[in-house]
Amino acid sequence: MPVTEDQLAEIEAQRAETAPTRRVVARGMEERLYTLHPVLDHGFVRVIDYMGDDAAICQAARVSYGRGTKAVSNDEGLIRYLMRHWHSTPFEMCEVKFHIKLPVFVARQWIRHRTANVNEYSARYSILDREFYIPAPDALAAQSTVNHQGRGEVLEGEEAARVLEILKADSARSYDNYEAMLSQDGQKGLARELARMNLPANIYTQWYWKCDLHNLFHFLRLRADSHAQYEIRVYAQTMCEIVADWVPLAFKAFEDYRMGGVTLSAPAMDCVRRMLKGETVTQENSGMSKGEWREFEAAIRSN
Ligand SMILES: Cc1cc2nc3c(=O)[nH]c(=O)nc-3n(C[C@H](O)[C@H](O)[C@H](O)COP(=O)(O)OP(=O)(O)OC[C@H]3O[C@@H](n4cnc5c(N)ncnc54)[C@H](O)[C@@H]3O)c2cc1C
Repeated sequence: MPVTEDQLAEIEAQRAETAPTRRVVARGMEERLYTLHPVLDHGFVRVIDYMGDDAAICQAARVSYGRGTKAVSNDEGLIRYLMRHWHSTPFEMCEVKFHIKLPVFVARQWIRHRTANVNEYSARYSILDREFYIPAPDALAAQSTVNHQGRGEVLEGEEAARVLEILKADSARSYDNYEAMLSQDGQKGLARELARMNLPANIYTQWYWKCDLHNLFHFLRLRADSHAQYEIRVYAQTMCEIVADWVPLAFKAFEDYRMGGVTLSAPAMDCVRRMLKGETVTQENSGMSKGEWREFEAAIRSN
């Protein structure tokens, strides 16, 4: 599935075509449309289609007859109010359809987000290409010593070289065997739907993925977050840049209230109030568990 010259020409041809429309057009998104945004070593994100813009969110919230836009400042205030108060359905009025190319192990995390519509490249029908994700040296890290679900220091020297060699050799060998099993040269040739089963999870797949803006924000909050695995995070970060161009007011509200905001529990709010009164509050007298306290401190302390 490497992107061929013909495919790049198809993208350019589609970008060159324009049509008059009465539909809403978001300038920033028009610039992004169809363009291939590279991610990881062979992956990408492309916008195939979209519906709505910032004004469409307000139009739905007001159930307007026309565009419904008052002033940009009114729209901004309304969008921020809707986001702050979890009034989510107006955000569902905007939709976006992406074409994503990603390693299978990233796709397994991604597909857990059930609120999208997905159509994946068929490896029953087609033969997969020899394309495997091999981490860049700075993404090749040791198991974290503090977080069971994470990575720590970057591997170096001989260990890094050995790991890279294993990844490359295993990928190449399994693909050689895939081809050997598929081959009809002097044999029947194994069905594609079976031959694929010994391919490793770092092989690339592709899909069309369509989602409304509310659920996309939910996906981005979880997957552009520092707790998400690096390999899915870089996709989410690329999508954040695209969404910021598409619906700048909604994206800013999302950054302020979701990405950069925190939810405080009732005991945490009680601690904040006691601190503001000058009381020394510690984990022991906070009413919070050690884990909760750690997260609370991380949220409110500046260093
Ligand atoms: C850092 C991180 C670590 C993770 N680790 C693991 C792990 O170790 N093991 C694992 O299995 N998963 C893991 N996950 C996946 C996680 O548990 C969720 O499955 C995933 O993030 C999708 O979230 P979601 O269900 O909220 O999203 P979506 O499926 O997009 O759903 C969005 C929202 O719609 C509603 N919804 C959708 N479908 C239903 C339904 N059928 N019933 C009720 N409500 C529904 C829910 O409110 C949901 O929050 C991890 C996720 C992250 C971000």
